[in-house]
Amino acid sequence: MKFARKGGRPIIISGPCSAETREQTLATCKALGELGVVDILRAGIWKPRTSPDSFQGVGLDGLEWLAEARAMTGLPIAIEVATASHVEAALRFGVDVLWIGARTTVSPFAVQAIADALRGADVGVMIKNPMHPDLELWSGALERMSRAGIKNVALIHRGFSTSSAGIYRNDPLWSLAIDMKLRHKDVPMFCDPSHICGNRELIQGVAQRSADLNFDGLVLESHICPDKAWSDSRQQLTPDSLKALLDSIVWRNETCGDDPQIQLQDLRLRIDELDNELFNTLSLRMKVSEQIGELKALNGVTILQAQRWDDIMHRVMSDADRLGLSEEFLVKVLDAIHIESIAHQNKVMNR
Ligand code: PEP
Ligand code: MN
Repeated sequence: MKFARKGGRPIIISGPCSAETREQTLATCKALGELGVVDILRAGIWKPRTSPDSFQGVGLDGLEWLAEARAMTGLPIAIEVATASHVEAALRFGVDVLWIGARTTVSPFAVQAIADALRGADVGVMIKNPMHPDLELWSGALERMSRAGIKNVALIHRGFSTSSAGIYRNDPLWSLAIDMKLRHKDVPMFCDPSHICGNRELIQGVAQRSADLNFDGLVLESHICPDKAWSDSRQQLTPDSLKALLDSIVWRNETCGDDPQIQLQDLRLRIDELDNELFNTLSLRMKVSEQIGELKALNGVTILQAQRWDDIMHRVMSDADRLGLSEEFLVKVLDAIHIESIAHQNKVMNR
């Protein structure tokens, strides 16, 4: 199973978060097949859930239903695997694509056990980014697959657990995904807007952003009746709304890859993402300052503490070389941050 774009078109993977019943799996996959725009069907049959009381997936029964869905639609099928026994079952059923979930990518032991069980198998393997923003773990998982002789690998950007995810379920941290893409130029990169957003209203914007960044495809959760889904109901789309969403995305022309204008646009998008992260971080910093202001107010302490500020200056300046930033620039930025921070503390103290 190769992750190849057909005629330059991005690869679309869709299906329910979880296979729930035979009827739901087949009805969803049939409708997706009829759209004519889905390349691979997905469904989780073992679900890594935080609470043992949540729906844990239907297990092996789901493999039977997916095999039926494949026979009915002619489309390859993908499931999530987290253990060697999952891999063995998937290979026994001839599953075309396996994906490693975000909760598994964080564990090198688990990833290695999967790689060992897969050794030499002719399947596609997609690796989701780990839960937390750590590219080394993500790259390590990729390396473990290639050492196990898996030729068709792909990456899935599904966002990261951070304290600054804002409106998203998982923080997209685009500049990290771009960094990963640049480190592994030959490995296709998919975006999973469903798990980034957690909410179907936000999906279009994230999907468009990934198209603008020249991702190779999308993984989008869909369900014949999303509101009744047993997992991730708020982020799933009906097959019809999936089609409408895909129709609304503007896919940039891949053939002009060497055009300097396109390269310039890529770099500018990168700058925009980094600026977003920079200002989000500054905003978080000011919120922490306000908490400090509240503490100081409660304890009758002054806002300005010269020694503390000298320490901060000193610490940042001593890193100037590594950062590749001039001391003159750092002083200007730190002064601006300091003034803004004092204003925030002042606001809470004199509320
Ligand atoms: C999923 O794709 O169903 C899933 C559980 O995703 P993630 O590992 O990204 O949370
Ligand atoms: Mn899901």
